[in-house]
Amino acid sequence: MYSNSLIELDRAHLIHPVASYRSHEKHGVRVLASAKGATVTDASGKQLIDGFAGLWCVNAGYGHDSIVEAAARQMRELPYATAYFGLGSEPAIRLAGELADRTPGNLNHVYFTLGGSDAVDSTVRFIRYYWNARGRPERDQFISVEQGYHGSSTVGAGLTALPAFHAGFGLPFDWQHKIPSHYAYRNPVGDSPQAIIEASLAALKSKVKAIGPERVAAFYVEPIQGSGGVLVPPKGWLKAMREFCREHDILFVADEVITGFGRTGPLFACSEEGVVPDFMTTAKGLTSGYVPMGAVFMADHVYETIAEGAGAAAIGHGYTYSAHPVSAAVGLEVLKLYENGLLDNGIKAGKRLMQGLESLRNHPLVGDVRGRGMLAAIELVVDKANRTPLPASADPARRIFDRAWENGLVIRAFANGILGYAPPLCCTDAEIDAIVERTRLTLDETL
Ligand code: PLP
Repeated sequence: MYSNSLIELDRAHLIHPVASYRSHEKHGVRVLASAKGATVTDASGKQLIDGFAGLWCVNAGYGHDSIVEAAARQMRELPYATAYFGLGSEPAIRLAGELADRTPGNLNHVYFTLGGSDAVDSTVRFIRYYWNARGRPERDQFISVEQGYHGSSTVGAGLTALPAFHAGFGLPFDWQHKIPSHYAYRNPVGDSPQAIIEASLAALKSKVKAIGPERVAAFYVEPIQGSGGVLVPPKGWLKAMREFCREHDILFVADEVITGFGRTGPLFACSEEGVVPDFMTTAKGLTSGYVPMGAVFMADHVYETIAEGAGAAAIGHGYTYSAHPVSAAVGLEVLKLYENGLLDNGIKAGKRLMQGLESLRNHPLVGDVRGRGMLAAIELVVDKANRTPLPASADPARRIFDRAWENGLVIRAFANGILGYAPPLCCTDAEIDAIVERTRLTLDETL
């Protein structure tokens, strides 16, 4: 087992994100010690397949020497350079250029952040600035989608629609509005794609009308809702929502923090439907989680409006670590890996993962199986006919997570009995099969 002193030290001093502090104190920490490929090893030497790529981020897998070398080289040469005062560093400039070449449509301007939350937060600042620059300061109302997750900054947590991020924090703000999710398995209009798209369009239309069409600044979506339980909209949903926003002069923000960088197949999920948003936020797979970095992509017309609006005045938005050269050097190396086989392997492995999880559909506990590429979930129920969720009181997530861990598998067990999968894109066939078989074993033991 791990050393007790480490567990005690953790209990006494380390505050963990998105946790019940009291139950964490009770259960104690699980310490990860090392990792290679898709396998993580804990401090007691137990090896597990990481079916969640850390936190949906280690897309390239662990222990890539070329990524480590890229970071080390950059640290030796220039470990830090500010992007303030007209300064810059070569890797950040090159990464911006490489990414702009690959983003959908005219998303040609890149603002680097430290992760996804500050990427989302930055979009809110840019959007307010944009509408002011257009002489429309009254466009200050924001809409997002129930079950959505847009990070943990104060403003982003308000756009997020998960109760734990609001309760006790005085959120959301009164300028942050929501429409119902497309959640097909539990949608009052049923699971017909057309009915779901029409219901979402009607909800957005009526929300815009209620707020006042001249007041709405922007609409935020995830191409697939991740933290809400891997909720995959029907094909055509994203495009329909995008078109509505274009027609009503509402800025459209695609939050690709999870879906970006091959998670669903291509580099960006938006391109699967030919959608070009006004803003796109990314993080996680950008550096494959090796170092922190996020990126906001801004369309030409938004950039021009902001730049013209400001004229010679400084646009007061920046972080000490914006465009960090070490993160950028890692980003450049990771991008090479994506294009030298990683994306292709992810597409192949994703098909196998979906087939494998589909084979669990007949299991008495499995109500739904869904996903795209290497992003998937199964939703557990106690009664398949009525789609009755597992009782929250029995803390099923913790029990299932613990059982899976014993069986050598790391998964994400959401509180409502949804199991999430986002394995590294480098997974072999054998690793994908092991993820499925260890899940089957875990479900059998949970019955
Ligand atoms: N947006 C989405 C869609 C996310 O899934 C996340 C994180 O999971 C974020 C934003 C926040 O990113 P970060 O945790 O890097 O701040």
